[in-house]
Amino acid sequence: METKKRIAILGGGPSGLFMFKRFVDSCRTDFSITIFEKKNRLGAGMPYSAEGANDEHITNVSGNEIPELVTPLAEWIKTISKDTLDKFHIDAERFNEYKVLPRLLFGQYLTAQFDLLQKQAKKNGIEYDVRYNTVVTDIKDYAEQGLVVVEIGDEEKIEFDHVVICVGHNWPVKNEGKVPGYFDSPYPPAKLALKLNHPVAITGSSLTAVDAVRTLSRYNGTFDKDQNGKLFYKVADYSPNFKMVMHSRNGLLPAVRFHLMDSHLSNDSMLTESEIAAHIKANDGFLSLDYVFENDFKQPIRNEDPEFYERIKDLNMEAFVAEMMNLRESLDPFVLLKAEYAEAEQSIKRRESIYWKEMLGALSFALNYPAKHLSAEDMLRLQKTLVPLISVVIAYMPQSSSEEFLALHNAGVLDLITVGNDSRVEAESQGGATYYYTDEDRQQQSVYFETYVNCIGQPHLTFEDFPFESLKHKHTITPARLKFISRVEALKAIADGKDVTQDQLGDYYLKVPGVTINDNFQAVDAYGALNERIFIMAVPYIGGYNPDYSGLDFCQKASEIIIKSLLPKNEGAAVGNLNL
Ligand SMILES: Cc1cc2nc3c(=O)[nH]c(=O)nc-3n(C[C@H](O)[C@H](O)[C@H](O)COP(=O)(O)OP(=O)(O)OC[C@H]3O[C@@H](n4cnc5c(N)ncnc54)[C@H](O)[C@@H]3O)c2cc1C
Repeated sequence: METKKRIAILGGGPSGLFMFKRFVDSCRTDFSITIFEKKNRLGAGMPYSAEGANDEHITNVSGNEIPELVTPLAEWIKTISKDTLDKFHIDAERFNEYKVLPRLLFGQYLTAQFDLLQKQAKKNGIEYDVRYNTVVTDIKDYAEQGLVVVEIGDEEKIEFDHVVICVGHNWPVKNEGKVPGYFDSPYPPAKLALKLNHPVAITGSSLTAVDAVRTLSRYNGTFDKDQNGKLFYKVADYSPNFKMVMHSRNGLLPAVRFHLMDSHLSNDSMLTESEIAAHIKANDGFLSLDYVFENDFKQPIRNEDPEFYERIKDLNMEAFVAEMMNLRESLDPFVLLKAEYAEAEQSIKRRESIYWKEMLGALSFALNYPAKHLSAEDMLRLQKTLVPLISVVIAYMPQSSSEEFLALHNAGVLDLITVGNDSRVEAESQGGATYYYTDEDRQQQSVYFETYVNCIGQPHLTFEDFPFESLKHKHTITPARLKFISRVEALKAIADGKDVTQDQLGDYYLKVPGVTINDNFQAVDAYGALNERIFIMAVPYIGGYNPDYSGLDFCQKASEIIIKSLLPKNEGAAVGNLNL
């Protein structure tokens, strides 16, 4: 009798999809898979279903940038009904894989891919089960028996040998539902289908704000094109006072999407895993941020864009970020948007990348996996300098959103205010919220808005937010932390109000968001021991060790790493009745 490993995938969104694909592609049958999904549908997850999108919401990646699934997007498009295509204004014959897509349509694609993978699994003799409409409420780990128990309320307790936690997005709710006109996030966006004859405050100006703006603008006016094909916006008669005011710390808009040369995964100018491992070993167990910046950012630029390299070759990370930020901050964000839109149009037309921006995305992706080996000092530098630049440059605002932003701004209904680091928003009991901030002339401001939408994006959740209580109580998982190299720096961080602890050996640690994982995405307990049974690829809960939320390429990469631990190559390749 073949003994099969019993594996649970908890959550059937994009992470669950890529994980399942790894099993199907493994050419093995010595395991059984159970997928638990709280909804009645697989694949779409939060961003590509009604939980995260309306018809007007689009992806920020195009078909050619999507990691390989079963059918290429351009082929799948030809198989869907004309009604669906018409709904999303897509002509299958002229479909261009370099264009972004409506997110709901993309969700249909992901669901279809999950279906195809299930067919392949059946054909290959893989044992699997999908438990739809099933919410996993707790997980208990039994180290001595080598078991994990997945609980479905009080009704069911099911034993597994391994679980992969893919429960994905979670948007904490603070005031929504209690305070009228106050929204803790713009999701699900159907709730923003509101006629609002007054200014609306938005926190944030990146892609989450773009989602809110796309919805609110459609319910309070219309977009149209003039004789020259230029988009303009007209506010509706019923909302003459409608306006959206975005508030952001640095007053910047995301950079416009351009033509990307390489997917992050295929970029071979980056440091290899073994180079990084050797560097960490030689550097007292720490990854140096400067080393990664030099080798995964400046050196590739030296080869591909020598002119830009000349400009930055003598700059360290701080100096580079300051130069790029100063350039952006010195310009009106909508003037810069217009200029970047034109630059990106050329890039797309000529299929030429804007190389330094592409490399910044690649750097962020490359830093993601080894970030847990940074010293606390370097993590603080990363958070303070590089992250703000990365978050504006690699958000990649799609062309149509950029056009809409410019049209809305020209119509006087979209503004962006710089509020610095000390702003705060207070919910008002009568409804809405007051924005408190210091303006650019150093004047204190307090402005009341009847409607407020928090659009900061998916926050990095804390250890305490982790949804499976028993794992926390039994210390199966632990809060993520990074060690300080220098005691002096640790004391400075304490004085700055950072969450720093000291262990019994006297070493100082910075608490970072989420739970501790090792390089294979396995949970790590309080003694630093890895847990062979529990894998975590739900990004909001591992944000400290995995700071870049890069989306589908993350799903692809993390699932590749996890499958190597779950199905090691040298393990008895029990091929069973594999029928390829
Ligand atoms: C608004 C938005 C837009 C985005 N757009 C892009 C984009 O254009 N391109 C890109 O590459 N990336 C994009 N991303 C990144 C995106 O996060 C990932 O691509 C992807 O959604 C992550 O998938 P996931 O499966 O980890 O999480 P989710 O999409 O959140 O899926 C989690 C799944 O688990 C299920 N689940 C949750 N809890 C339980 C439970 N207790 N029991 C059972 N099931 C459960 C949920 O129902 C869901 O199906 C976007 C993110 C957001 C928030």
